[in-house]
Amino acid sequence: MSDDLFLKIIAREIPADIVYEDDEVLAFRDINPQAPLHVLVIPKRRIPTLNDVEEKDERLVGRLLNVAREIAVDAGYADDGYRVVMNCNEAAGQTVFHIHLHLLAGRALTWPPG
Ligand code: AMP
Repeated sequence: MSDDLFLKIIAREIPADIVYEDDEVLAFRDINPQAPLHVLVIPKRRIPTLNDVEEKDERLVGRLLNVAREIAVDAGYADDGYRVVMNCNEAAGQTVFHIHLHLLAGRALTWPPG
């Protein structure tokens, strides 16, 4: 899937500031950070959108949440708080069609989001 930017990051074809990696999950800093900590947590296996997540993917999607939490905790944001977001399709602002959690922390985050 050569048009998948995140597969290129996984394959090290384009650079990224990687903060976590295991066999199934990669996490790297967002190139256009919206908070002092802005990390994207992705599965290495491509799933285009949350709409495409199947029952067999439940454990993998759970791993994304656990990795996001571990990064937030390790960075010292457990008590102050942090946000984890997944955009699905254009109206929600999804621009890269390879599911990813945004982990945001380090500033007061307003609600509702824009
Ligand atoms: P979304 O709009 O939810 O699909 O999020 C896609 C995110 O990917 C945006 O926050 C972008 O800033 C980010 N992004 C795009 N290209 C790169 C890249 N080469 N390295 C890191 N983050 C990127």
